[in-house]
Amino acid sequence: MFRTVESQLLHQAVTTELKAEFQQYDFERLRTFCVLVLGVGIVLWFLFDLVVSFEGGQGFTFKSIALLAVLVVLAACVPLVRKAWHFYVLNLVYVTLYCVSARLVIAGIPLDLQPLWLTLTASSVVFFASVLPHNNYSFFSAQALTWGLLNPFVGGIPVLELKGTLILFYVLIFASITSYTYVRLRQGKLHNYLMAKLLMEQAYMDALTQIPNRRAFMTRTASRLEASTVDQMRYLAMVDIDYFKKVNDSYGHDIGDEVLQRVAGNIRAVLGDFEFARLGGEEFGVYLWDITPDEVQRRMQLLLATVREAPAAHPVTISIGLGRLDAGDSLNQALIKADQALYDSKHNGRNRCTYAP
Ligand code: GH3
Ligand code: MG
Ligand code: MG
Repeated sequence: MFRTVESQLLHQAVTTELKAEFQQYDFERLRTFCVLVLGVGIVLWFLFDLVVSFEGGQGFTFKSIALLAVLVVLAACVPLVRKAWHFYVLNLVYVTLYCVSARLVIAGIPLDLQPLWLTLTASSVVFFASVLPHNNYSFFSAQALTWGLLNPFVGGIPVLELKGTLILFYVLIFASITSYTYVRLRQGKLHNYLMAKLLMEQAYMDALTQIPNRRAFMTRTASRLEASTVDQMRYLAMVDIDYFKKVNDSYGHDIGDEVLQRVAGNIRAVLGDFEFARLGGEEFGVYLWDITPDEVQRRMQLLLATVREAPAAHPVTISIGLGRLDAGDSLNQALIKADQALYDSKHNGRNRCTYAP
């Protein structure tokens, strides 16, 4: 089954919107990790600067403290960032500042050590960047910025001498490996995200009517109930198609299915701004909140009329049971109440809405 869903996914085009949704999700999930990575980067920079200052006799200058402070402020801003692309920009600013400050510190160490330390620092920055959430533009911009600002050949070491060739070889291999792992990991993460989304949709959507199913209804309504306040008016309606068995028996199961889809569409059209679902068979549930008693009655009458008067070859009517949720009522208690009211609707002639006392 997993393979079947996977092959279904592989045939689906990944739109720009889906990618943007994934990037936002990826960033939100990794926000704390981003703070950690930027924080570790700052600690490493600080330690490096300290070693160079004391062993190398550069002195820990005001410039170092100022740059360190700006990097700390940038890292501290990450928890406040809401949009993924804002983080990408912040990260590019961080990488730029980081590389510029590292370059200034490295400029103070002996000339023959500089290419090696530029290479090591650039590789560390690129590695850190490759584990953070990115889109392609931001990752490859970070790579380009890092190698550009920490270019080990800028001091003039000849590429064709052993030292230069070795450094060039290392830079090329490292840049290729980090780019490749970034691309592959990103593809894998995107695939997993799309797969989870597809499976969630299938698990919470009724396959026939394409409206939420019982599982979705119970989950969403329970969390809405938890979030609601006591003084809010809340109602639960149970909707059942009248004499539906007759539709199946007279015209066949396919026509029965069409009727189910049509009624689901009517419910969506009239009550789409509330939680609604197919609870099973030809029964639907609707949870309404923040609504006046008059408006509930108006909506129920509108739904009855919409189903009854829908232009269709096989018209049907529905019966509704409506219950108000009192303070402390659980979802199951509300369902039982609405079900009893539905039973009364059926016994009093169908095609009506009964309000549970
Ligand atoms: P009442 O007015 O009292 O509700 O009568 P009814 O005939 O609608 O009620 P009953 O519960 O006896 O019939 C429900 C029928 O719904 C029985 C079942 O075959 C049919 N049904 C359940 N699920 C589906 C489905 O997915 N497709 C179709 N076509 N029929 C379904
Ligand atoms: Mg029925
Ligand atoms: Mg029924």
